[in-house]
Amino acid sequence: SKIPTVSSLYRATSLRQTTTERTPVQSLNDIVSAVRYDITKLEVDCIVNAANSSLLGGGGVDGAIHSAAGRQLTRECATLDGCEVGDAKITSAYHLPCKKVIHTVGPIYFTESAKDPERPESLLRSCYRRSLEVAVENEMKSIAFAAISTGVYGYPSKWAALAATDEVRKFLELPENKNKLERVIFCIFEVKDEIAYERALPWVLRFF
Ligand code: ADP
Repeated sequence: SKIPTVSSLYRATSLRQTTTERTPVQSLNDIVSAVRYDITKLEVDCIVNAANSSLLGGGGVDGAIHSAAGRQLTRECATLDGCEVGDAKITSAYHLPCKKVIHTVGPIYFTESAKDPERPESLLRSCYRRSLEVAVENEMKSIAFAAISTGVYGYPSKWAALAATDEVRKFLELPENKNKLERVIFCIFEVKDEIAYERALPWVLRFF
């Protein structure tokens, strides 16, 4: 059934649940969840890093991922020739508990919106879509996203959460993506994003 039950909605939107165990999932609503946690500690197949276009490491979640993974990650990233805004590239995870890291480059909100008000959202959606495509190409079954662009890149959390959740929904609903991903986790770090996802997830899940 496509109609979410109250309990499945609650499970999917509870931010305090621990989501590291790999449970088999039956319905679309059991696939998507959000958790407030340190992404470098998640035992999922892959995590998505909010990188910058050089891929050489930075602050925020990028810095946390590079320091937890070790120097080898930075070395592998240096061979990738950077990454365009809205695109995604995959590497090994080295000392991290996940198997792979997908590096995506989010839009710098004010720079892109000055060019065209629609650009930040289309680029942010592209980050989520490209990351999911790369994950599926690499046979990943579970994926955890950092809240791309919502840190120093200045994307308002509320709008970022709506775009992120809706783009994931669109991807999972494509017939060719059925049964590819078993788990998609929005890994939140700060209260502002927790509030944003608490609102965005039930809204978007209504349309599953
Ligand atoms: P960007 O440059 O794309 O804005 P930032 O790293 O500045 O990237 O921020 C992206 C998001 O990552 C922010 O919402 C921030 O709260 C979050 N973040 C920072 N450290 C971690 C971490 N260890 N685990 C998960 N998320 C984190």
